[in-house]
Amino acid sequence: MQMDSIKANLEKIKNSLPEGVTLVAVSKTRTADEITEAYNAGQRDFGENKAQELCEKTDVLPSDIRWHFIGHLQTNKVKNVVGRAYLIHSVDSMHLADAIDKAAAKQGMVQSVLVQVNVAGEAQKSGISFDEAEDLCNYIRSSCPNIRLEGLMQVAPDLENQDELRPYFAKLANLCKSLNLDILSMGMSGDYKTAIDEGANMVRIGSAIFGARVYKNSEV
Ligand SMILES: *Cc1c(COP(=O)(O)O)cnc(C)c1O
Repeated sequence: MQMDSIKANLEKIKNSLPEGVTLVAVSKTRTADEITEAYNAGQRDFGENKAQELCEKTDVLPSDIRWHFIGHLQTNKVKNVVGRAYLIHSVDSMHLADAIDKAAAKQGMVQSVLVQVNVAGEAQKSGISFDEAEDLCNYIRSSCPNIRLEGLMQVAPDLENQDELRPYFAKLANLCKSLNLDILSMGMSGDYKTAIDEGANMVRIGSAIFGARVYKNSEV
């Protein structure tokens, strides 16, 4: 991707977002130079989905970047992500919440998180089921003193027809409201306008900013 188009894409998207919607630029697989281009255009929130890549990037990029961890998090990687991530979007079990709580306590800090919900119940996707989401939120609030629960996140089904997506977004927006949570992270390059229509106030956009991702052999 041409560096000057990163800046142009970013500005176009930023100008299209209503006030109060936070843009997370999803920088997984992108080089430090590509991220720096977006940083120089004023972007400060970036999203990564692998612990190792997050560590490598936090080591070399400016310290005022807010890193969002948006990928599936294994408990053995928690200690590398807690403290580095401004917000972990992908808490989907009590077991993971416990591990984050413990790691945060050890560092003497409170980690902000979102609970990831698999609203459509897709077998291949991470996230707690919609029916169990409220219990997990209550568990974190009552039993994890070193976690601050800020909101909910979902990766919506990969559907072209935006009207078919609306019910999934609306369902999570309702839950977010009923639990009195502030952040609703949903919407990606292909569906962020619909997600915002239905109440998202944080969107995670990668390819519409940086171009199509190219993965090395075994990665997905
Ligand atoms: C990769 C990724 C995105 C960004 O996807 P794009 O289609 O490139 O915008 C958003 N959220 C999550 C959880 C991701 O893994």
